[in-house]
Amino acid sequence: MGHHSIQQGLESVHRLMDLALDAAKRPRGSVSLVAVSKTQPPKAIREAFGYGQIHFGENYLQEALSKQEALRDVEDIIWHFIGPIQSNKTRQIAERFSWVHGIDRLKIAERLNDQRPPAMGPLNVCIQVNISEEYSKSGVKPDEVAALAQQIEQLPHLKLRGLMGIPEVPDGMSEPRMAFRALRQLKEALLPIPLDTLSMGMSLDFESAILEGATMIRVGSRIFGARDGAV
Ligand SMILES: *Cc1c(COP(=O)(O)O)cnc(C)c1O
Repeated sequence: MGHHSIQQGLESVHRLMDLALDAAKRPRGSVSLVAVSKTQPPKAIREAFGYGQIHFGENYLQEALSKQEALRDVEDIIWHFIGPIQSNKTRQIAERFSWVHGIDRLKIAERLNDQRPPAMGPLNVCIQVNISEEYSKSGVKPDEVAALAQQIEQLPHLKLRGLMGIPEVPDGMSEPRMAFRALRQLKEALLPIPLDTLSMGMSLDFESAILEGATMIRVGSRIFGARDGAV
């Protein structure tokens, strides 16, 4: 991407978010932007924060912890853990993050619940749903979501906020929009469990996600520029 400015990246993402919200006849400001800062140095996060960006998403625990350490003076950052969760990593995730998007089994939820320092208040969590079952292994099967949601609802140190999904289809195949719609319908079907979050949409598809009801989008390269390597 050559000379990519974080300020321009943020401005263009916000402009496109507003256009998608207008097209969907949804109020502006009704989607939160999580800036996915994996592989980016602390300096880039600090810069984005300076432009008003508050939510940051990280995938790899060790990398995230060292950046949090370098940024500990920036107290208002809200950290989201968006990567796969290994059970031996739950303690630090419970202690250092405000949100976890990728809950895919009860055991992980229970560990996070047990390890969350009560003084921090409940950890916000989303269940990751496998919305591309034919092509992907990650996430809970749609027909298993209701049972897991009911179990998480019983855990006092977690607050179940909603569902997260990543459409994964081979390049050039159908639009992600149907997968986003399916996730929204699944959330609606979980009533009466009160969920306020649909975490869906990344750099290449966040506008479709907003048209289908996303309340939180996770965007990396459109803000920070292309990442080195295949991550
Ligand atoms: C990397 C990543 C993103 C952001 O990806 P971009 O294509 O750079 O926007 C969002 N969500 C998850 C779970 C990711 O791993």
